[in-house]
Amino acid sequence: MSSNIAEIEQSPMEPPSLLGVQNHSVYSDISFPVGMRFAVEKELPPAFAISERSDAFRRRFYPEVNLKTWCDWHWQYANRITSLEQLGTMLSLSPDELDAGTGLAALPFAVTPYYAAQFDPANPADPLRRTMVPTTAEWDLNPGESADPLGEDGHSPVPGLVHRYPDRVLFLATDACSAYCRYCTRSRRVGKPGSTSTVRKRWPAAIEYIENHPEVRDVLISGGDPLTMSDAALDHLLSRLRRIPHIEIIRIGSKAPIVMPQRITPSLLRVLRRYHPLLMSIHCTHPGELTPEATEALGRLADAGIPLGSQTVLLKGINDDVPTMTKLMQGLLKTRVRPYYLYHCDPVQGSAHFRTHIFKGVDIVRGMRGHTTGYAIPTYVVDAPGGGGKIPLMPDYVQGYDGEDLVLRNYEGNLYRSYDPAAPAAHECGDCGKGCSGCNGGSSC
Ligand SMILES: *Cc1c(COP(=O)(O)O)cnc(C)c1O
Ligand code: SF4
Repeated sequence: MSSNIAEIEQSPMEPPSLLGVQNHSVYSDISFPVGMRFAVEKELPPAFAISERSDAFRRRFYPEVNLKTWCDWHWQYANRITSLEQLGTMLSLSPDELDAGTGLAALPFAVTPYYAAQFDPANPADPLRRTMVPTTAEWDLNPGESADPLGEDGHSPVPGLVHRYPDRVLFLATDACSAYCRYCTRSRRVGKPGSTSTVRKRWPAAIEYIENHPEVRDVLISGGDPLTMSDAALDHLLSRLRRIPHIEIIRIGSKAPIVMPQRITPSLLRVLRRYHPLLMSIHCTHPGELTPEATEALGRLADAGIPLGSQTVLLKGINDDVPTMTKLMQGLLKTRVRPYYLYHCDPVQGSAHFRTHIFKGVDIVRGMRGHTTGYAIPTYVVDAPGGGGKIPLMPDYVQGYDGEDLVLRNYEGNLYRSYDPAAPAAHECGDCGKGCSGCNGGSSC
């Protein structure tokens, strides 16, 4: 990958520390004798959290890289691992991972050193590793799959902008990511070398389209990952969008807080805070991603007043069971992210090995509802192939009417009756023969 957006960025100006007790208030504690203050103030701690696991990885594979550099996202981005040869020096590749090679699949391979540090080096079935390291299964074109399963290209009034719903648009601001998820819906376009300037050339026409469509009140900036862009580029785009009077809210979809948490710098936050109401959707797949680093990044975003929601793709063998999904959603709440969407895995080419049965997602949500905090329950959606948009699939708790009682099943499977005399007309109606369930008991269903 030769994308160089991050490299042209200004170097980050970090305040010395944001690490809880290690901040400077310690030194102004009046219990310190005045003359001792300079004696205790030794080397500054790194400007970002680093877990023991990440630090052990750094010392082993990047002994020449100091903590400050490791915590600099420019370094993380510029030093992404992009070849299997390099990855193979850090973990033992399986025969299939070796066979998969690189450059053959539609999507390139790239992970930040930080994210690679979270992989289990001995186990190719490690969930995080499976989401990022190519396998030969990607080469297959399976029934129902295509390169653009959501028909996004067909809903693009101008290149790089998808207008599928009445009052909001999807703005594809970049094609670069700091790490490439093997199941990516947009693998047809992300990570193509040399695409940065081409993509930026699309911006003026996309902005003009929004200016000319007053019904658009919500812009979702996605890509690729918008947080691979420099602070200056984001500032430019956000300020252009904020100048449009009918834009009420702006959203950014990103996986950066998970795969490159060091990206969430004070200078980035200074930019983002200027454009409220600004929301962020965090792409997160597995509880193993909620490291001390990700927790710090998400906490910083929450502290900047940015409401955080999550987006998770349901992936076979990675997060498709109730305990894992519950742990992920509870973990997200602990890191101040409100679970938002759980997606059925889109039928993008070469993704069958990740895809579950559609009703698996319904079963998982049913297994969570009532058993844990309501805030932890995401909405499970299937993005209709061909451009129908997101369609929610929900567990059904209604058993039907028994006389004037509506019979309901609770989360434990027990049946309850709710006396509901006004409703029988609704359930008895069927005269129109449409078999609809939302009958209002009259002639206009
Ligand atoms: C998901 C999506 C949106 C946003 O949908 P919400 O349900 O409002 O979060 C907007 N446009 C497109 C094309 C999308 O795929
Ligand atoms: S971060 Fe998003 S856009 Fe980038 S590869 Fe992953 S799923 Fe695709």
